[in-house]
Amino acid sequence: MNLSHLLLRIASMDPQRPAIFSGHRITATHQQWAARCARLADQFQSAGLQPGDRVALFMRNHPRYLEVLFGAWWAGLVVVPINAKLHLREAQWIVDNAQARWAFVTADITSDCGENLRGLERVIDVASPEADALLAAGDDGGYGPITDRQADDVAWLFYTSGTTGRPKGVMLTHRNLMTMGMAYFNDVDPISPQDTIAYAAPMSHGAGIYAIPHLMAGARHVVPDSGGFDPEELFALGRKIGPLSLFAAPTIVKRLVDHAESARETPDRCAAAFKTIVYGGAPMYGADIQRAIRVMGPRFVQIYGQGESPMVGTALSRHHLSDVTHPRHAQRLASVGVAQTPVQIRVTDSDGRDLPQGEVGEVLIRGDSVMAGYWRNPQASALALRDGWLFTGDMGALDADGFLTLKDRSKDLIISGGSNIYPREVEEVLLRAPGVAEVAVVGAPDPEWGEVVVAFVVPQLGVSLDLQALDALCLQEIARFKRPKRYEIVEALPRNNYGKVLKTELRGRFLPGPNQRAGNHGGPLSSTVLPSGSDT
Ligand code: AMP
Repeated sequence: MNLSHLLLRIASMDPQRPAIFSGHRITATHQQWAARCARLADQFQSAGLQPGDRVALFMRNHPRYLEVLFGAWWAGLVVVPINAKLHLREAQWIVDNAQARWAFVTADITSDCGENLRGLERVIDVASPEADALLAAGDDGGYGPITDRQADDVAWLFYTSGTTGRPKGVMLTHRNLMTMGMAYFNDVDPISPQDTIAYAAPMSHGAGIYAIPHLMAGARHVVPDSGGFDPEELFALGRKIGPLSLFAAPTIVKRLVDHAESARETPDRCAAAFKTIVYGGAPMYGADIQRAIRVMGPRFVQIYGQGESPMVGTALSRHHLSDVTHPRHAQRLASVGVAQTPVQIRVTDSDGRDLPQGEVGEVLIRGDSVMAGYWRNPQASALALRDGWLFTGDMGALDADGFLTLKDRSKDLIISGGSNIYPREVEEVLLRAPGVAEVAVVGAPDPEWGEVVVAFVVPQLGVSLDLQALDALCLQEIARFKRPKRYEIVEALPRNNYGKVLKTELRGRFLPGPNQRAGNHGGPLSSTVLPSGSDT
């Protein structure tokens, strides 16, 4: 099994059908896409890359993402997608950990700081003549052979942020991604060759692997000129070559709906631009999805998954979202839906025993979408995968109809604008600043971003902290979107009897009413909100 066979199948069946678009311009038919992948695979092989070797993609969204991705698979290589928003140092850590041999980059990522990734045999700018040469294929319709892979061979080595401050490489196999692709048709949306997927979210994440079901159907792939999310651009593009289907985090969906409302779009006009909007990756508030459906019509589907079972956990269908006459419609809106076809879901206590309906416990997933394990990390793999079940770290409850409602995250993960931020990473940076004694980073609710990063900082005795300097340190060390938007300078952090910081109490300080605990255990000496920009 090799995912590239999906491309060969469509290219043989329907060679001249337009496949990849940059904005509204066609950049490849299915035949050209396959020919370029075969040519690239040949180049990898000539350079001595062996099946199973890693190739990193540190790129903003770009039409060539799809060519490099399937070209690497064609040669049996493992793709390591790297979030374009990461700091070069973070990307370098991933490249080193994965022992990648080549990397493909977009110049804007690396040229900002005048540096580039190191320790690789080749770093190729996808917009350069060098990349043109690697992908230069004739139009004769002949393709070199696809390298054979087993279903359980790794295809996509996806790095999650780690709670220990180090990301972990999630090993996703050809079988995992094939399963994800097929589940889309049954659980999310049927796709036809006339459909068009737009990549408005990072292709290094779930949005990028949604290329697979769309390729299965022979649909069209569009990378907007902006390379990301611009509501006006998406509406215009959708009307020109759509209607579009896309994946977006709840924050982005909200902005699209804001735009539709202010531009006085009707659901009918929205239907001309958008077929299906899939959302997930972070909680969506009930009121927000109701408004989204009211303004843009019933074109939304929610999914819940995680890097370890990508895009496949549960789904809340278009039908369930719109079925307002159902007696439990309100509860369903607040849920993440039912188990997707290829997986089973359980909710268990800390000893792994099933809990009765309605009780909150850890969410477990089992099925062919679940990762093979973490890259060279048997300890973390053994913790996450037990008896064939993935322990997600998410807390939730199942109802009698199988709908899962997420209650909380067992880890202290912050999700801001759909991007995951692990507090420990930020804490480790801040603790290096002179004059800082202690730090605890938590997420505070935010109407726009879902959550924003807040750092509680205890200064060393007699020190007056320069918050701009803390901000500058974060900018130097970690991705922009991870740095705190707000600092609370406190005398002490609340701790339990074992000396552990009580993050729940810190989070409680941002809640209105009786939970508000400011003033306990050393309330804020001062609170400063830094100008945040729009970099989440
Ligand atoms: P990632 O591995 O980056 O995809 O992040 C996965 C985490 O995001 C999950 O473990 C959940 O905590 C959260 N998440 C994913 N989908 C949803 C959703 N539909 N609603 C709420 N939280 C979600």
